[in-house]
Amino acid sequence: MKELVVISGKGGTGKTSIVASFAKLAENAIFADCDVDAADLHLVLEPTVKQTSDFSGGKQASIVASKCIGCGKCKDLCKFDAINLDGPANDLVGKTYTVDRVSCEGCKVCVEFCPVDAIEFKDSINGQWFISDTRFGTMVHARLGIAEENSGKLVSLIRKEAKKIAEQQNKDLVIVDGSPGIGCPVIASITGADLVLVITEPTLSGKHDLSRVADLAAGFNMSVLVAINKYDLNPDMANEIQEYANQRNIKVVGKIRYDKAFTKAQIARTSVVEYTSGAVAEDIKALWRNVTCALS
Ligand code: SF4
Ligand code: SF4
Repeated sequence: MKELVVISGKGGTGKTSIVASFAKLAENAIFADCDVDAADLHLVLEPTVKQTSDFSGGKQASIVASKCIGCGKCKDLCKFDAINLDGPANDLVGKTYTVDRVSCEGCKVCVEFCPVDAIEFKDSINGQWFISDTRFGTMVHARLGIAEENSGKLVSLIRKEAKKIAEQQNKDLVIVDGSPGIGCPVIASITGADLVLVITEPTLSGKHDLSRVADLAAGFNMSVLVAINKYDLNPDMANEIQEYANQRNIKVVGKIRYDKAFTKAQIARTSVVEYTSGAVAEDIKALWRNVTCALS
């Protein structure tokens, strides 16, 4: 079983539309949406959720109001300014302390030093992840709570679960819609994958993003391919990107023309290759052939 991760330097490059088309074109694959901060593959694949699980990115403190004696020691010790005097009264004091979930970094200092053991330290629920059925096969995806972090940990979890299911179902490919950027989530998206496909655009920032992603992938010794989306909007820059990729020994395996079908397909909640059989669909199919060739 192989794992293909599709990434881009930033959002809006058409990455998810291309992944959705791959989902249609793949014959024996399952899908993982690791773009957990802006998950939108589900908009096209329209999953029916079969299993929901909580995701915990770590532990956090919480003060049991009935036990707090209001000494303020926890507030004095918290380096993250996560403790406030805004809790309810109890039999001992008119106001108790509370922990702000968004600010608490789970360092446990307050827990250790509370003189009356009034602070609990439990798994914090940061989001949920799902196993779903789609018209193309199983999909693993997630929803991270608002202002929650630890998305790198969630990305690793989704990939691990997707691979487990692929093995159970005898699938030969996991297609991962990876996180954009070069931060922790994208590192969690690509480490250990068989192949990384970078989707870029013919703009200066697209070239810059490609160089950053290429550096990152090179650092992890990964096989990287690149596809240029909307290449005909700026053929000179597309050529520049092609030359840059050649210098870095990165193969350009696809060039996809600009076509409003990308947006129209998205609105119609379908993939581009389902929406149209026009030239742009042929571009995506040619890209898919080259990618599957590189995977075999
Ligand atoms: S250290 Fe314990 S008792 Fe003191 S304010 Fe904090 S929670 Fe309350
Ligand atoms: S666990 Fe650490 S960060 Fe969280 S409230 Fe306690 S002292 Fe502050």
